[in-house]
Amino acid sequence: MDTIFALASARGKAGVAVVRISGPLAFSAARQLAGELPEIRTAGLRKLVGQGGLVLDEALVLCFEEGSSFTRESVVELQLHGSGAVIRAVLFELSEIDGLRFAEPGEFTRRALENDCMDLAQVEGLADLLEAETEAQRKQAYNVLSGALGSIAEKWRANLIRAAALLEATIDFADEDVPVDVSPEVRSLLAEVSSALEKEVSGSVIAERIRSGFEVAIIGKPNVGKSTLLNALAGRDAAITSEVAGTTRDVIEVQMELAGLAVTLLDTAGLRETTDTVEAIGIERAMSRAQAADMRVFLLEHENESLSIQPVDGDVLVVGKADERNSTEFSVSGVTGQGLDELVSKISITLSERVQGAGTATRERHRIAMKNAKNALDEARIEIDHGADRSEFAAEEVRTALRALDALVGRVDVEHLLDEIFSSFCLGK
Ligand code: GDP
Repeated sequence: MDTIFALASARGKAGVAVVRISGPLAFSAARQLAGELPEIRTAGLRKLVGQGGLVLDEALVLCFEEGSSFTRESVVELQLHGSGAVIRAVLFELSEIDGLRFAEPGEFTRRALENDCMDLAQVEGLADLLEAETEAQRKQAYNVLSGALGSIAEKWRANLIRAAALLEATIDFADEDVPVDVSPEVRSLLAEVSSALEKEVSGSVIAERIRSGFEVAIIGKPNVGKSTLLNALAGRDAAITSEVAGTTRDVIEVQMELAGLAVTLLDTAGLRETTDTVEAIGIERAMSRAQAADMRVFLLEHENESLSIQPVDGDVLVVGKADERNSTEFSVSGVTGQGLDELVSKISITLSERVQGAGTATRERHRIAMKNAKNALDEARIEIDHGADRSEFAAEEVRTALRALDALVGRVDVEHLLDEIFSSFCLGK
């Protein structure tokens, strides 16, 4: 194993920058720069001296012994003064030491995975935690990082291993009288895991939304004030507003945080009959994006307007340009700000309610693994219904489900996933 090093904190000026070294030569490399190292896990202030005897910086040095570091290898962290020049000088000195090389993006985490410090789902949780921008994303990512998905999968595994063992015992006794009928217990074990899987699969759709953000589309006729409303909500000029109908020809996205959730607001082309081909394409896109969005805000000219898309549960209907009208219905004005707080709170409430159903699993990959497991268990139950002489087939289906759960936490089939997952990591992690 090479010894690797990288800047673990962000680039740019800061009070402190952290350089991390991991691998068999970590301590000796650090000793070359800092002299005598402080005790394990005790920070010590040291002068870092380069090969020419030049002092590079004064840094806090922190050593972690093999077996109890993030990567499980020997690790040294150097907390430097956070300037570009200091960082460059220290990284250069490290690169001059034999046996040391720059880490690839995500390589520290990859070593943690390979040394069994984390399962694959935890690695994904860590990637999400590093990306987290909202409170809900942070909570969810931390939950996955702390191993929540692994512990659920472990419980399911234990049930399935017992079910497989019971079924296999039946195969061995096939020609004799089986002392007890195992099928009721197997059935209940499989049913329990099946329903838990089903719940997690449906909860993962919402969990994925927390991770990647909810989409809220603002729709309505041209010139009702959609762009102005979006700008008012976003607090900046994100969409072009003008008095000529049909300005917003494409879908404009603005990301914001509402009630701790990541939300992408979509400003869509005004819905109207048109002979302009470009505008017609915009309208078509608007319709399909609006329909696919998590919720829609219908901005109306007046209360009794006919709608070109049918609102569904959770959508909000609101009359626009409240300052020009005396509407008795819920109305907003992007110009004066009237009704904006109420609109934001309606959107927040709807999304917050949906978040209640969020599961632990957060990704399409998790969902596929869990669906595969569930399908295999459905097959197993069908085999069990056929009687004891099909136990072998039932057992095989249970083993298929077990393999799917192993894929969920990355116990099997990992290699092809790793490059993709680690490519999303930043340098030094
Ligand atoms: P869109 O086509 O639905 O996106 O509408 P715009 O946001 O581009 O607005 C069209 C016109 O209506 C512009 O001249 C805006 O200044 C005006 N407008 C938008 N919102 C309001 C509002 O709340 N009150 C008033 N009085 N005018 C508005």
